[in-house]
Amino acid sequence: MYKNALKGGIRTAKQAWKLKNELGKLQLDLAKANSDFEQHLCEESGHLNALISSKQFVKVQKQFYRDYSCVSLGAPLKSSDAPLLGDLCSQYRAILAHTSADVVSGQDIHHPGCNYQQTRRAHQQQSQPLSKEQEQLEQERKMAQKAKFERLPTNVVPKHYELLLQPNLQEFTFNGKTIVQVNVKEPTTQITLNALDIVIDSVELHYECSKLKPEKIVYSAENETATLEFAQEIPAETQGVLHMSFTGELNDKMKGFYRSKYFGPNGEERYAGVTQFEATDARRCFPCWDEPAIKATFDITLVVPKDRVALSNMPVVKEDSLPDDLRRVRFDRTPIMSTYLVAVVVGEYDYVEGKSDDGVLVRVFTPVGKREQGTFALEVATKVLPYYKDYFNIAYPLPKMDLIAISDFSAGAMENWGLVTYRETFVLVDPKNTSLMRKQSIALTVGHEIAHQWFGNLVTMEWWTHLWLNEGYASFVEFLCVHHLFPEYDIWTQFVTDMYTRALELDSLKNSHPIEVPVGHPSEIDEIFDEISYNKGASVIRMLHDYIGEDDFRKGMNLYLTRHQYGNTCTEDLWAALQEASSKNVGDVMTSWTQHKGFPVVSVESEQTSKNQRLLRLKQCKFTADGSPADENCLWVVPISVSTSKNPTGIAKTFLLDKPSMEVTLENVDEGDWIKINPGTVGYYRTRYSNKMLEQLMPAVEKMELPPLDRLGLIDDMFAMVQAGHANTAEVLDLVDSYRNETNYTVWTAITNSLTNLHILISHTDLMDDFHRFGRNLYEPVAYRLGWEPHDGENHLDTLLRSLVLTRLVSFRSIETIGEAKNRFRSHVSGTNPLPADLRTTCYKAVLQDGDEQIFEEMLDLYRATDLHEEQDRISRALGCCGDVKLLRRVIDFAMSGEVRAQDAVFVIVAVAINPKGRDMAWEFFKENNKQLLERYQGGFLLSRLIKYLIENFATEERAKEVEEFFQVNQIPGCERTVSQAVETIRLNAAWLQRDREQLALFLRDDE
Ligand SMILES: [Zn+2]
Repeated sequence: MYKNALKGGIRTAKQAWKLKNELGKLQLDLAKANSDFEQHLCEESGHLNALISSKQFVKVQKQFYRDYSCVSLGAPLKSSDAPLLGDLCSQYRAILAHTSADVVSGQDIHHPGCNYQQTRRAHQQQSQPLSKEQEQLEQERKMAQKAKFERLPTNVVPKHYELLLQPNLQEFTFNGKTIVQVNVKEPTTQITLNALDIVIDSVELHYECSKLKPEKIVYSAENETATLEFAQEIPAETQGVLHMSFTGELNDKMKGFYRSKYFGPNGEERYAGVTQFEATDARRCFPCWDEPAIKATFDITLVVPKDRVALSNMPVVKEDSLPDDLRRVRFDRTPIMSTYLVAVVVGEYDYVEGKSDDGVLVRVFTPVGKREQGTFALEVATKVLPYYKDYFNIAYPLPKMDLIAISDFSAGAMENWGLVTYRETFVLVDPKNTSLMRKQSIALTVGHEIAHQWFGNLVTMEWWTHLWLNEGYASFVEFLCVHHLFPEYDIWTQFVTDMYTRALELDSLKNSHPIEVPVGHPSEIDEIFDEISYNKGASVIRMLHDYIGEDDFRKGMNLYLTRHQYGNTCTEDLWAALQEASSKNVGDVMTSWTQHKGFPVVSVESEQTSKNQRLLRLKQCKFTADGSPADENCLWVVPISVSTSKNPTGIAKTFLLDKPSMEVTLENVDEGDWIKINPGTVGYYRTRYSNKMLEQLMPAVEKMELPPLDRLGLIDDMFAMVQAGHANTAEVLDLVDSYRNETNYTVWTAITNSLTNLHILISHTDLMDDFHRFGRNLYEPVAYRLGWEPHDGENHLDTLLRSLVLTRLVSFRSIETIGEAKNRFRSHVSGTNPLPADLRTTCYKAVLQDGDEQIFEEMLDLYRATDLHEEQDRISRALGCCGDVKLLRRVIDFAMSGEVRAQDAVFVIVAVAINPKGRDMAWEFFKENNKQLLERYQGGFLLSRLIKYLIENFATEERAKEVEEFFQVNQIPGCERTVSQAVETIRLNAAWLQRDREQLALFLRDDE
């Protein structure tokens, strides 16, 4: 029977999983752990052990042993609405040797290719009591080691958790019980597991029908652990059962098991209980081995008020009524999985449901009364599941897939297996009020989280050092998926401005980090949910995809996922599979991209050597944002492609640049032909052309003979050269002129992003009026072409372009655009002609820019009148455009008031900070209130986002020093790297301004 179940590989996993449930299910009744139960348990343990020794069972077991997402926070912070946040989305065989999947005897547990493994704590066997001196020495040793993070010891590992949780939604507390089957591998008197901000009320270890209570429980807040210390040694090879009961607070920090506020039918405040565990917060909910490689199965039970929806990773198997209007909901057993993917939600929701073509039940849970807002996500999710099944050639391993909108949610979305949680703005679509940009983000987010169900959940990174595997990969695949579902979005072109150029920008800083970064303590882990893990990760995978080709990429992915299903991996495992599938040297090529920080700039010159032969001379060196020589001598293995004017959309030659310099001859190139390096902007590097090559390319830009991605890549590279001092700003602005006839939305996004950086610089000078005039001249022709009203049958990208261009014209002070925006705003408010969602930000900004208190109040009324989170976001972020510092201060007070959710407040303050008029005031506000903000957000990525935007737009050495000194005195754990990066950016701004100020003045005034 097992063999039959296994025949189809993972496609039959669900079947195998059912079989296993029948065989191995421990019907533990958590509410009555009595002596019957003990008896039962001993029998079951014996039964299980007998099974485990059978190789058949092992195979089945391995079948089952089997998200925070980066997702954009939507509204434009810098300029063009590109995604902002990293989602939260979250092997080693040496560890597998200690975990549930280790039951295959003789498995090779050594994993030599796995880098950056964290040291693990080993429980010392103390056969004799320590003397006083020894104790003191031990104490000193401990102090000296305090800073060194260690992973959990592996002497005792969990195999299966029974977990019962009972939240109190009035008093904001919860009780829990857990019964964990543990495997004691070495004799020990201690069991260390993770626990944070919970109190373990009782503990009992049962084995071989004996019961043991610990003498004490030692908590370490620093290590986020609890150590159970027993008086008596637990022998090796013990299969024990650890019973624990605990209590905790249903906190308001959006991590662990927390409360999320919503409003009842009469406007009264109500609360849902929600979990967010990635990266390291399962330990805030229940005592557990909270590391991604320590996988186990879970039987989850919730005790909830009768009238509340209760959800978890798996479908419900049984419900019972309990006294006091309570009900007990038991969920089916999960496959083997990591703790960070466990989830429960208790609250009031409506839902829409559907079935994917391959029979998976999909439901989208929405706030009560907003069921129809889940329809779009439902449509995407039901189509995405079969798409991935086909793409990976592996069926979705669970019987159901729930998506749920959570009102208080810190990330964009989280890929909990079978129960994906989302910020409301990342899943709900209100057809009348949702912008196209938002819809697109929602499609990408749903695609991202569902990709994690395979890549992350079925196969999980061994340790957070390999987080990029999860996030980079999902961030790449979300585009594959949206391209498949919505070809009209032209999403791969948008990838370049949304993901790729953002990664290059951050990665050119000295304070960047390699994709694979050794991390240990939770605060370090939080900080790597950044553009390097997500955007650079996705960009290097896209480069690799292009290098080995679609077919081999798919083959390799299937090999990787099948080989490591229910297990854990490190980066090298992915390279090995892709190498096997493609017969290309993937490991050697990719290591240089994942293990070094930064990227190269490829300088290229060409020489016509005969009538139709061109010699290219290429050189690579590390690109630095400030143009200084790189402090390390890095060499990348760069896959280079070249196109020529003979065939602008084709590839003329590909080769690997694996040394500092090389020469390559191109055939069939005439004297007047242009040559473009990196067609499609796929390679993760910048190109610096000789003047002659650049001159040959410019007419091809003007005539739009170069494809959009090449026009885009060219201008973005040029701006980077300017910032690094390799070219001057006036030169690149001259080049921008060639883009005046540009029609492509994404190319305009790239130009806008670069000009926004320049806008910030110019805000420190008296050249603002001149720059505004330059901007109006540049954007007006395209605005005239598009007009305010959508044309019949207009394409998706023109709708996005209209909103981008008109918003820019508002900030460039176009009187005509502002006038029209104000008129349209009036008709919107009066209800005569409601604004389409895509143009609201433009109009809100236009009225607020020189608005007075009355306008401000009017906007607050609009905010209060809507219950659509997206609209609240749009309004509250537009408030940052006010031109009056006093009003801007009110914006900050509003952000910090109870009216704005903590998850959104950060972005309202950021909107003030990026307004040059609010810059100083917002920084002063932060300095005065940093303790309160730290308490509110408990560190984490929301706070680090805030800090980044508060400080990186300064442009003097004095400010750089002030910021450094401030953060030396007021340390904010988990934000250290962000601060160093932002300080580096301040110095870059200062140098750029000093270098180019005069020429810029001449250029802009000449333009008059
Ligand atoms: Zn993710």
